[in-house]
Amino acid sequence: MNRDDLPRFSGPNRTGELQFNYMDRLVRRDLRVARAEDITPRYRRIVLVGDDLADGFPIANFAPDHVRVFFPNPRTGELVSPREQPDGRWINEGGAGKAIHRDYTVRAWDPETRELSLDFILHGHGLASRWASRATPGDRLVVNGPSSNWLLPENYPRYLALGDESALPAIARIIEDAPAGAHVTALIEIPDAAEQQKLTGAAQLDLRWIHRDSAPVAEGHLSALETALHAWQPPEVPRTLFAFAAGETQSVKPIRRYLRNGMGLTKDQVVVDGYWKRGVGGFDHHDADIDDD
Ligand SMILES: Cc1cc2nc3c(=O)[nH]c(=O)nc-3n(C[C@H](O)[C@H](O)[C@H](O)COP(=O)(O)OP(=O)(O)OC[C@H]3O[C@@H](n4cnc5c(N)ncnc54)[C@H](O)[C@@H]3O)c2cc1C
Repeated sequence: MNRDDLPRFSGPNRTGELQFNYMDRLVRRDLRVARAEDITPRYRRIVLVGDDLADGFPIANFAPDHVRVFFPNPRTGELVSPREQPDGRWINEGGAGKAIHRDYTVRAWDPETRELSLDFILHGHGLASRWASRATPGDRLVVNGPSSNWLLPENYPRYLALGDESALPAIARIIEDAPAGAHVTALIEIPDAAEQQKLTGAAQLDLRWIHRDSAPVAEGHLSALETALHAWQPPEVPRTLFAFAAGETQSVKPIRRYLRNGMGLTKDQVVVDGYWKRGVGGFDHHDADIDDD
């Protein structure tokens, strides 16, 4: 794959279509924790700084993009991660072990303070979640990317963004960046009321929290989120709606089917991604196999 031949876009996307955009280069950044902020009992914001942010960070508007984060091995403390060589190859450095990485949404970039924020769920089972729960100022991470992103169309009157708590940072970005004058409905499944966050933006917002501890799951549905989606009244003209959904891979599959077949949205009107897979550590979302029709 020659990176120079891949599509690049700049400026607002008013085409009505999704634009899959490649960055000019994949950039590696060696960063350290400036501070960790507890947003809710199970959500922690990790604010990262470092000289590698001196030249800025390529955050795109209305594109819930993500980075690949490399973590230290909790047993050995080694932080193994790839670095680009003069011949263009990426080779691991930092130790003999395997690189350990997970994907995280770019929650915020502050160009004044040069701080990059990632929001971590403390779900308690995984390496990244455990790392975040213990992170203290000075802890190191390597962040690669973003390498590409979906630039969402900015000329729809209505948006629907839905997902579980892994998609909360992406949905928060969509709410923040959605065009003024548009209407956003957000359906967000969280464990309980203590996990609600304050989310705001310029668009008109209908924000609905679905508490997993009490919300109904209809027969045949895999999640309370799916049931909430079926209960939602979509616009009469399907062409006026753009939808984004992400979360547990098996749970978002029927959600995508409903958006496409039940609500009549075209392929270009939906982005659906499997952000994690129950029972699978280090799941790669490229294996989620969701966008197959
Ligand atoms: C594009 C993209 C953006 C993402 N953005 C974010 C983000 O901003 N914030 C965020 O917190 N997550 C985000 N995720 C999800 C995150 O990458 C995964 O949840 C990841 O598996 C966490 O790694 P871990 O080491 O904690 O758990 P792993 O070691 O990967 O998994 C260990 C066990 O925990 C389970 N598990 C993994 N994730 C969850 C979860 N969310 N809830 C409950 N159980 C889980 C697995 O099924 C497995 O059984 C994103 C994923 C993608 C693909």
